[in-house]
Amino acid sequence: TELDTAAALADDSKAQDGRPAERLWNFEDLPLSRYTLEGLKSAKYTRLTAIQRAALPHSLTGKDVLGAAKTGSGKTLAFVIPLVEKLYRLKWGIPDGLGGLIISPTRELAMQIFDELRKVGQKHDLSAGLLIGGKNVKDERDRVNGMNILVATPGRLLQHMDETPGFDATSLQVLVLDEADRILDMGFSGTVNAIIENLPAQRQTMLFSATQTRSVKDLARLSLQNPTYISIHAEA
Ligand code: ADP
Ligand code: MG
Repeated sequence: TELDTAAALADDSKAQDGRPAERLWNFEDLPLSRYTLEGLKSAKYTRLTAIQRAALPHSLTGKDVLGAAKTGSGKTLAFVIPLVEKLYRLKWGIPDGLGGLIISPTRELAMQIFDELRKVGQKHDLSAGLLIGGKNVKDERDRVNGMNILVATPGRLLQHMDETPGFDATSLQVLVLDEADRILDMGFSGTVNAIIENLPAQRQTMLFSATQTRSVKDLARLSLQNPTYISIHAEA
């Protein structure tokens, strides 16, 4: 099955001292759904970046992942792909509600993530929305409850959790904390903790960061269960 293939690739990468499996270079080498492969292809994504090679075999098996790699290394696809694949395998649909949640420090980064999500998910049957403030909170409120995947900034997300009638995160399957170091630098630690308290404990969590600071490790301890640690250093 697809999960067995991902597990075998993950085992390979452990056997080779944390390096990714040798035979893993292209998205087509991964056990991805036809829909995701078609989305990647039409966005002209072919070869994996280093963080994608290292992280995807683990995250595709459903494991929690703590990933560090510098800006521009392709971290977005490293979490968007496993999120979409997980919901696809669960046959997630509109009536199943919120299945995936991506938290991003800024509006601009959230919009970039949303664009990548649209590319990867274009052939899938999943709904996705942005909760980023700066828009009318009532307009967002009308649509938030129909979404399978939300990309959100912390303050606006917590506001909807507190104030939007019917906002329901109890079936959430996947949580992503992107740019965790920036989230914490911007003073959102308390907000993120409050958000996590509203989420089911049984879920997959992926935390990505450009740097691994003390406070990132604290957040990781609070949000991740038995994670795989992946750190990609810039190569000369
Ligand atoms: P990060 O989050 O690590 O800063 P991004 O996910 O924003 O990096 O990716 C940086 C750029 O690289 C984006 O323009 C993205 O489209 C591109 N990119 C990511 N993965 C790939 C890939 N596998 N092949 C080609 N381009 C990629
Ligand atoms: Mg990023």
